[in-house]
Amino acid sequence: MGKRFGLIGHPVEHSMSPVMHNDAFRSCQIDATYEAFDVGAGDLEEVAEKLRSGELDGVNVTIPHKVAIMNFLDEIDRDAEVIGAVNTIVRKGEKLIGYNTDGAGYWESLVSYLPHDTSALNVLVIGAGGASRAICAAFLNAGVAHLVVANRTEEKAATLLNLINTKQQSTEACSLAEAKTKLDQFDVVINTTSVGMSPHTDQLPLSLDKLKKEAVVSDLIYNPMETAFLKEAKAKGAKTVNGVGMFVNQGALSFEHWTGVKPDRTRMTNIVTDKLGG
Ligand code: NAP
Repeated sequence: MGKRFGLIGHPVEHSMSPVMHNDAFRSCQIDATYEAFDVGAGDLEEVAEKLRSGELDGVNVTIPHKVAIMNFLDEIDRDAEVIGAVNTIVRKGEKLIGYNTDGAGYWESLVSYLPHDTSALNVLVIGAGGASRAICAAFLNAGVAHLVVANRTEEKAATLLNLINTKQQSTEACSLAEAKTKLDQFDVVINTTSVGMSPHTDQLPLSLDKLKKEAVVSDLIYNPMETAFLKEAKAKGAKTVNGVGMFVNQGALSFEHWTGVKPDRTRMTNIVTDKLGG
């Protein structure tokens, strides 16, 4: 019988993970399927039991269970521990191990737009939620010169940095208003908030008036594929990167954890892009 993988979260009905993973299994000739399971917080223990018993062979975890699921696992990988959340569960022998592929997946999608040496970069991350934490950890890991987190609720930006800046790197928390006034200092600007996501596609998380034209601007949102934020950045001459690459890469890295096989990321990107109507 083929292996069974899936996504647990709520809601999950619009997820593109099943179509992307099922195609990857087929094209890699792996006998396995991937389904989306809409589960509540009270069902997490049962999911862990299904993974232990072999009824399920591995899962992705999405909102709102990425933190709570950690209580049911035997080991947490270092990246996931720093990020404080798990998006991938792998069974190894008797053990359930939690990984987080969001930060590494994001980094893979961005790195070709950055200079080879990233140590001089001044980076602005807008937003201080779960995704921001993974992205900030990736930038700190890469050793950038300075990382600023700006958030509507400024205290959350400070709390996030306190939790992940374990090596005392150069970081700063600020308000959105302050970030706006010093935007010309940043080489990389990333929107990790949900502002601009369909159906509210005309909204911007931050005005880009002072953006420098050599900047790289990225948005984690992939629906729409080009947000108002990216459109404005492009109009100012910046290089822009949408959230499709992060989505594909985090999925591809989960796939590699489960199967040991590297799936074709270009093929995965085409499937996701087609599904998004691009
Ligand atoms: P989250 O934990 O709920 O965090 C949401 C963030 O957005 C917080 O910083 C919040 O600020 C801010 N925010 C929400 N509404 C706002 C508004 N009206 N004005 C200003 N700030 C606002 O969500 P998340 O899991 O980090 O996800 C954030 C985004 O990343 C979503 O759009 C998600 O789809 C995207 N994402 C993409 C990928 C990918 O693979 N491409 C992966 C993960 C997430 P406060 O703290 O002030 O509330």
